[in-house]
Amino acid sequence: MNLTDALNCYCSKYLDNRNWYQWKIQEDYFHANFGITLEGETCFDKTVELKKKLHELWESESDSDKRKRIIKAYISVWGGIKRISNDTIDEYMALAPKSLIRLGKKGVASWSKALVIHNPQQYAIFDARVSLSLNCLQELYSIEDKQLFPILSSRNNKVLEGNKRISDISGNWEKLDNSEFYNHYLLILKSVADHNHTDIATIEMLLFAKAEAIWKCLKIKGKDNYNLQAEQFHSNNHRMKLCSSCLLGLVCRYNGESVPHEKVLRLAEEEVLIPVCPEQMGGLPTPRPAVELKNGRAITSDGEDITANFEAGARQVLEIARLYGIATVILKQRSPSCGCGQVYDGNFSGSVVPGNGITAQLLLDNGIKVLTEEDL
Ligand code: SF4
Repeated sequence: MNLTDALNCYCSKYLDNRNWYQWKIQEDYFHANFGITLEGETCFDKTVELKKKLHELWESESDSDKRKRIIKAYISVWGGIKRISNDTIDEYMALAPKSLIRLGKKGVASWSKALVIHNPQQYAIFDARVSLSLNCLQELYSIEDKQLFPILSSRNNKVLEGNKRISDISGNWEKLDNSEFYNHYLLILKSVADHNHTDIATIEMLLFAKAEAIWKCLKIKGKDNYNLQAEQFHSNNHRMKLCSSCLLGLVCRYNGESVPHEKVLRLAEEEVLIPVCPEQMGGLPTPRPAVELKNGRAITSDGEDITANFEAGARQVLEIARLYGIATVILKQRSPSCGCGQVYDGNFSGSVVPGNGITAQLLLDNGIKVLTEEDL
């Protein structure tokens, strides 16, 4: 088996839907600065659409300053590479694709984005996450003649951890030539995209999105001879949902009780429902004071503002959703964390008003579908 075979095997499990891509776009910025409106429904669709529309703008624009703004916005605003100088952008503008590729590892996360704006069908982004995925998959699939893609620095601790392991184990791998690895990467992407009847951008985005999950598989394999079983478990994520723990009968509510829900329990017999309680995950004890939302803040019946705990728990739930590529969650209606569409009015009077709990809102903001037990 070579890397292309391994990627064919890996990618085919994830191409039924694109819910594994959950990175949001700064839509307001691109609308205000470039007049771009994104109509796609999912984060994946919007990301592809942005790339296409920036490319079209780039092609239709003859003013080099405006072209430069397009490239810079894609690299620094969308791509998050803040410290890119105007001189570097000028260099990307001046060099032909072949010359950019010869720059090799230096700045590849930036110049590959510039290439994508030149031609999104022909070029793809290569960054630290993509590189980690490519290197880890070779080890996970026990490929004999492994080829080391450049290990790139990252601000993500998990990527750094994965990079360190790859550095430690890759001593006898063939090190890909600095000016050639990108072309090699493109050839692999094209082959895998053709095999799976998709495009190179989809394969690149999958490698990007799954970097942490792939690294996690390798980390576990190192401990107990794990053989991709967990990753196959992840691949069933269309049948996996997060669910408020209290609906599954876990005693996590503020009053130390649970609210097991018949339909939720029935669904749990058919699908994997991963229990989450954002309030406990935000560091709150059980039992704990009752809380309602007032002006967007989580206030206890004693008047204490514990919004920070609620927000911390919400972020943890989002992290789990991303880790498993979860597209849908089932949350407890009217809870100040989990409610979706309805919450108590903040006066502890039992009255209900339209609104979302803090966790529900964060998940919705990140493109995750939120259902409540009342939707089942
Ligand atoms: S935070 Fe959500 S999961 Fe936890 S008890 Fe409240 S409603 Fe249930």
